[in-house]
Amino acid sequence: MSGACVLVLAGLDPSGGAGLLADAEAIRALGLRPLCVATALTVQTTRHALQFQPVAPLLVQDAARALLLEEDVRAIKIGMVGAPQVARAIDDLLREKAAWSGLPRVVDPVLAASSGAALFKGAGGPEAYLALMQGAIATPNLDEAEALTGTREQGAAAKALLSRGAKAALVKGGHLAGDAVDLLLDAEGEHALSAPRLAASRRGTGCRLASALAAGLAAGLSLRASAGQAKAFVRAYLQSAV
Ligand code: PLP
Repeated sequence: MSGACVLVLAGLDPSGGAGLLADAEAIRALGLRPLCVATALTVQTTRHALQFQPVAPLLVQDAARALLLEEDVRAIKIGMVGAPQVARAIDDLLREKAAWSGLPRVVDPVLAASSGAALFKGAGGPEAYLALMQGAIATPNLDEAEALTGTREQGAAAKALLSRGAKAALVKGGHLAGDAVDLLLDAEGEHALSAPRLAASRRGTGCRLASALAAGLAAGLSLRASAGQAKAFVRAYLQSAV
């Protein structure tokens, strides 16, 4: 099978609310082909996150390497990794070839479910994600931004992520009151993406946003155009729940 692909490394939520299935849905909807490597198996339903088990790091690495070698991968999305050893295996793999570390990479730092259940083993989550974000586009929500940078202020958090090596940061404002304003910062400067708040809450908006962003980049759109398209995609997903 041919066609431009987005390689996704993320957790499997069997309910499809978030994680790999949600990622694949977003990428297909935008016309690209998802290649899905599970980094962790979770026990989840639509309502509850119960437990998870990270996949063996070398198996994750082998699965992703095989796809990178054979398929037309144009962008990479990294979501839940579940454990420091899995993060390190992904980091090591991408360093194997300059062409792989140079692919557009979107990193969505997943530390906990919106219910509060942990989705990372141990305390090293922020450091593990900061390492994966080198040269990448980071897409934290405010809780994740605070865990990674120590601040919930969108502009300050975005600057801190760039100073730690991220190429760009999209700090999401969905947890703030008022309109949903996300802040995108890259070498060109700040760009606010605003949309009126919807009276809807659905699981997996962060996964879908990051995957839609990666799909835009894989299709050759600019970062700003990809971010605008991703926000519109998630808005339509939320709207369908109103
Ligand atoms: N499960 C997996 C595999 C995820 O990657 C994520 C979030 O990114 C979640 C669950 C959490 O989803 P939610 O924020 O909808 O609880």
